[in-house]
Amino acid sequence: MIKCSSHKKVYPTQEMAEDALIDARIHFDYAAHGGPIAVYKCEDCGNYHLTSKGTVNQKLAALISNGQLKRQKEANQWLDKLKKK
Ligand SMILES: [Zn+2]
Repeated sequence: MIKCSSHKKVYPTQEMAEDALIDARIHFDYAAHGGPIAVYKCEDCGNYHLTSKGTVNQKLAALISNGQLKRQKEANQWLDKLKKK
């Protein structure tokens, strides 16, 4: 496991970071202006991290605007409910 002085979770590629970002947005309920919204290449470790600053990641923005993120979230909430029974 690669460690970074930022103590953030390390993703070797931008794609993996974006997947993790989208996954996080599906599985957690963030406040309107909270939680990670973008990924960036770290100057310290050369890998990618999630960040709550800056502009919204394009992939994430596309999933939000076409409603796919909301559908995924709802599907996930149903799964959670089923698991609790
Ligand atoms: Zn880093």
